[in-house]
Amino acid sequence: AHLDRIADVEGAVKAYLTVDADGALAQAEAADKARAEGTATSPLAGVPVAVKDNIVTKGLETTAASRVLEGWVPPYDAHVVEKLRAAGLPILGKTNLDEFAMGASTEMSGYGPTHNPWDLDRVPGGSGGGSAAAVAAYEAPIALGTDTGGSIRQPASFTGTVGVKPTYGAVSRYGAIAMGSSLDQIGPASRTVLDAALLQDVIGGHDQRDQTSLPEAWASLADAARAGQQPGSIKGLRIGIPRQVAEGDAYEDEVARLFQQNIDLLKELGAEVTWIDTKSFEYAVAAYYILMPSEVSSNLARYDSVRYGVRVTPEQQNANVERVMSATRAAALGPEVKRRIVLGTYTLSSGYYDAYYGSAQKVRTLVQNDFADAFKQVDVLFTPTALSGAKKFGELTEPKDMYTSDLTSIPANLAGVPAISLPGGLAGGLPVGMQFMAPAREDARLYQVSAALE
Ligand code: GLN
Repeated sequence: AHLDRIADVEGAVKAYLTVDADGALAQAEAADKARAEGTATSPLAGVPVAVKDNIVTKGLETTAASRVLEGWVPPYDAHVVEKLRAAGLPILGKTNLDEFAMGASTEMSGYGPTHNPWDLDRVPGGSGGGSAAAVAAYEAPIALGTDTGGSIRQPASFTGTVGVKPTYGAVSRYGAIAMGSSLDQIGPASRTVLDAALLQDVIGGHDQRDQTSLPEAWASLADAARAGQQPGSIKGLRIGIPRQVAEGDAYEDEVARLFQQNIDLLKELGAEVTWIDTKSFEYAVAAYYILMPSEVSSNLARYDSVRYGVRVTPEQQNANVERVMSATRAAALGPEVKRRIVLGTYTLSSGYYDAYYGSAQKVRTLVQNDFADAFKQVDVLFTPTALSGAKKFGELTEPKDMYTSDLTSIPANLAGVPAISLPGGLAGGLPVGMQFMAPAREDARLYQVSAALE
């Protein structure tokens, strides 16, 4: 059914870079058989899933939407993909993104943008716009994304879907194509909170191949979501509104209106809502756009035309290794990726390191302290996910517009805490998402409160 749906709408939505119909059907048959024989190990056995194309899949082309990886077929599966396969989830295909997950609209993809199913003239957000659009357009019931500064949550907000950035270390990054390794996290995209919880239950858990993977076992997040669906489940829950985020005029009026509506709803459900100070949050974006490019400049050094993907040989006779590398990177990396590599090389360079990278690390610590203080007073934090509803094409391509659009999503990445975006209502016929953040390792709390509000 999903392959039929893809055939019907994919020409307009363009959520996928690769569709693996044969592979998905074979996996679906195997899952059916396991169910019939009673050997299926997961409640999601047979439920198809889409995978963002910066997560490697053995035997299935993986490009991270970059021309530099065009035609690259990974020889191994990411940890999360091993988990999907073991649980019997057929993989429908690989979804579009901004090149190497750098962007806020999928317009930075090396293969053309994805369109928002709610309005094809608008972007689905980014970088994980492909996964979010596939789920919103019923081209997949669930999908995987990656979130370095908001790339699961902001597309969820733009497409009326659910997106979760788990606690840093809750889901192994082994096989996720690295952008900013201290920030990157794989997480679920879905249409309901419970579906996201079920998917995180499948992909989460310890993996020794990721040295930042948390060692402990996790209680069922699906159980937490089901508990949240019960009446009275968030009675007395303390919800904090970060004053410095919510009081500014950064949000569009309609977003602010829906935010207030959702606050009222939470109060009706019995939650205690208070305003709290998070003084460093407003500097989080500035710190992120130093730290992330620094890590990008290091992580993307591997695309040297020798180890992966395409190679461009310059015309001249004397094309030595350096010239081949340089010609390849010049031709096959996109403008936003180059901008960040240059920026990060600069901020890490001797003489500037302390002024930029060192200072940004200090701001990161201040943001972490803000979270620690906040979570002494409240159980979760609540904000809109993004400043606006889905934008038109071209409105998020200028660096300043692209970067400031992550104002609300980035603090969670800097602190490694879990965050979720869920639908918060419609503004002018377009979906707007609301975000909860919880202390590290308290992903269950996020699912519980979100299921209650949903
Ligand atoms: N929009 C942010 C950026 O461009 C977030 C990206 C992400 O989370 N991968 O960096």
